[in-house]
Amino acid sequence: MSQVRGGTHADGGAPVILWFRRDLRLADNPALDWAAGTGRPVVPVYVHDEALEARRLGAAARWWLHGSLDALDAQLASLGSRLILMSGPSAGALVELAGVTGAGALAFNRLYDPSAREREAAVVEMLPDLEVRSFCAGWLREPGTVLTAQGAPYKVFTPFGKALGASFTPPPPCPPPDRLRAPVTWPGSERLADWGLRPCRPNWASAFEGDPGEPGALSQLEGFARRCLETYPVSRDAPGDPRGTSRLSPHLRFGEIAPWRVWSEVGSGRAAAKFRGELAWRDFAAHLLHHFPRMTVDNMRPAFDRMVWRTDPAGFESWTRGQTGFPIVDAGMRQLWTTGWMHNRVRMIVASFLVKDLMIDWREGEAWFWDCLVDADPANNTMNWQWAAGTGIDAAPYFRVFNPVLQGERFDPDGRYVRRWVPELARLPDRWLHRPAEAPREVLDRAGLVIGRDYPAPIVDHAAARTRALEAFRALK
Ligand SMILES: Cc1cc2nc3c(=O)[nH]c(=O)nc-3n(C[C@H](O)[C@H](O)[C@H](O)COP(=O)(O)OP(=O)(O)OC[C@H]3O[C@@H](n4cnc5c(N)ncnc54)[C@H](O)[C@@H]3O)c2cc1C
Repeated sequence: MSQVRGGTHADGGAPVILWFRRDLRLADNPALDWAAGTGRPVVPVYVHDEALEARRLGAAARWWLHGSLDALDAQLASLGSRLILMSGPSAGALVELAGVTGAGALAFNRLYDPSAREREAAVVEMLPDLEVRSFCAGWLREPGTVLTAQGAPYKVFTPFGKALGASFTPPPPCPPPDRLRAPVTWPGSERLADWGLRPCRPNWASAFEGDPGEPGALSQLEGFARRCLETYPVSRDAPGDPRGTSRLSPHLRFGEIAPWRVWSEVGSGRAAAKFRGELAWRDFAAHLLHHFPRMTVDNMRPAFDRMVWRTDPAGFESWTRGQTGFPIVDAGMRQLWTTGWMHNRVRMIVASFLVKDLMIDWREGEAWFWDCLVDADPANNTMNWQWAAGTGIDAAPYFRVFNPVLQGERFDPDGRYVRRWVPELARLPDRWLHRPAEAPREVLDRAGLVIGRDYPAPIVDHAAARTRALEAFRALK
């Protein structure tokens, strides 16, 4: 759905500013398509606005952003164009750009988190003479438009997902333009390297995985749809299978691929339906954030405001470093630190462990994920943390406390995942891999493992921690 302000093509020759944010792609990009279609010169710009989102982009996501902007610049060059880089508050930067280029119009794709919306409004207000076109490009259905028969927002995923599936028809594919008309003179641009988005000394991202940018997103989708989709309903829960899920989350996060393209390309069989359901969860998160903008900071269930979370810096640090003594938790936290990504099943396990076993406020875990995930997303991250904590509207019930040992044995039975990320346990037989502290002495000896020296003893007694959590949660009712 496009939104319009101002006359159409008032000044036939004046350039169009094309403002990129979380839509770093050429194909299926409605703002780009409109700008190209005017036949006017187009000035593509990315404004590095630290306050664009509710908070500064996390370190891992900044790493991804660098690669994505680099890729976009190369793609624009192939159209005879380029990406202008500016920093500062978006409104000031775009006013300056409009002045320098004599622009007559602004085109962009809308965002839905509260601070991005504020910025959009400020930009539009500060450029009263420009024709403004904005579009929805980041979700299957525009956040705010999927409503119950009474016109209220859905609060539970299942009916939301049904309504979305029933009402959604993917738009037809929209290939990139062959060329973008360049302005007579290009305005100056900052240098990406000067933004310091990537670490150098030390380069903690040297083992980060993924290929940021639209070409990487398209090949990831193509490979997944061809090779792995059929097994998805089962393999999605196997963290040891590197091809069990699509790994599209950072690409979707930065808008390097349209979600409706992903939806269409996977087809409509049983496996595809399961996969489409996950894409619908992504829409649900944006929908919730649109209707409940305080979701990123407040418990969605106010009863939890009375919860007395534990202050436990040592426990939190063991969790962040993957040194809790629970192998599946430690494997997940180390995968996150090393690669910038963690498998969904393990995200649920480590979140449950932090909130229920350690009784640490979900917001602390959410902030750690925000800094460490290449796909860190204000809507997805908070909705899922609130789901795991039981504080969300449609959340796991508080009495569901994952047992990290049983979860490990169930979802990583052959230990492929734990052996990769917790190599000091690699020589333990499967039988003891997820409960090393319970292994008989001779088994530990054979594996060359001393608990407390090579690998920590569990930092909590899970059964006792579970009882403590249930009592605290029950008291809130
Ligand atoms: C505590 C916690 C925090 C999370 N934080 C984030 C986050 O910051 N950013 C993020 O993109 N996802 C987050 N997720 C959701 C999910 O873990 C990731 O989207 C998924 O692991 C990405 O891997 P994939 O692309 O291979 O997923 P696939 O299984 O291939 O799924 C395809 C796509 O569907 C979407 N999706 C899948 N599961 C979910 C979900 N539960 N909620 C919303 N969208 C989903 C993602 O866009 C994903 O790329 C979080 C989950 C938990 C439990």
